[in-house]
Amino acid sequence: MKRVIKGVYIVPMGFANAFLIEGDDELALIDDGFPGKESAVLTAIRGLGRSPDQLKHLVFTHAHPDHIGSAAAIVRETSAKTYMHPLDIPIAGSGGPFRPMTPAPGLLGRVLCNLFFHPDERLEPVAIDQPLTPGETLPIAGGFEVIHVPGLCAGQVALLWRPGRMLFAADVCTNIIGLGDPVGFENLEEGRVSQCKLASLLFDAAGFGHGKPIARDASTRFRNKYGRDLEELHQQRSAA
Ligand SMILES: [Zn+2]
Repeated sequence: MKRVIKGVYIVPMGFANAFLIEGDDELALIDDGFPGKESAVLTAIRGLGRSPDQLKHLVFTHAHPDHIGSAAAIVRETSAKTYMHPLDIPIAGSGGPFRPMTPAPGLLGRVLCNLFFHPDERLEPVAIDQPLTPGETLPIAGGFEVIHVPGLCAGQVALLWRPGRMLFAADVCTNIIGLGDPVGFENLEEGRVSQCKLASLLFDAAGFGHGKPIARDASTRFRNKYGRDLEELHQQRSAA
């Protein structure tokens, strides 16, 4: 398990990432990887000298199999309360099927989407305790602001942890070979707007559902990548 910044650890679980956040007397987890990854989470918790019942919050960025795959098992083993955007709660509650996506533009998107995303996949269902409201700040580890970022998935949220100046970008973009698109989109235009939305925020560190986290100057990289789109978007909106 690697530290990203003070209080934030990335849990190693193959192609998908989960993040463990250490508060004074409790822990929070953002996403939990593919099915069968619960032991990676429990090992990470014990690696911090904590016990599984100190995991009090399990916040999901969206209901895809690579983000909620181990949820039911983790809920059984810990004291975690679960959080998700209302649009994705029924999918978690049934364990699939998942809304179809169109692969992201380019060859890599097509290959990865076919490899990793199967809308008919079924998971063990997980009940969600608390629906997330865009704009609210969750009272977890000093405050996580909930930002609705549809595109990949209608119920996707990013989380801005202001105390640590870290953005959890979910699958709005990946950082596999630099900042890039997720494997696919339910709605490409909404996905582009969400990328711009994140580029308009200020933060130092960033974590992604896929690829390496960035510890410093992350919002500069977002602006360099998506800033021009952001300007175009502002122009379109002021012209409309
Ligand atoms: Zn993902």
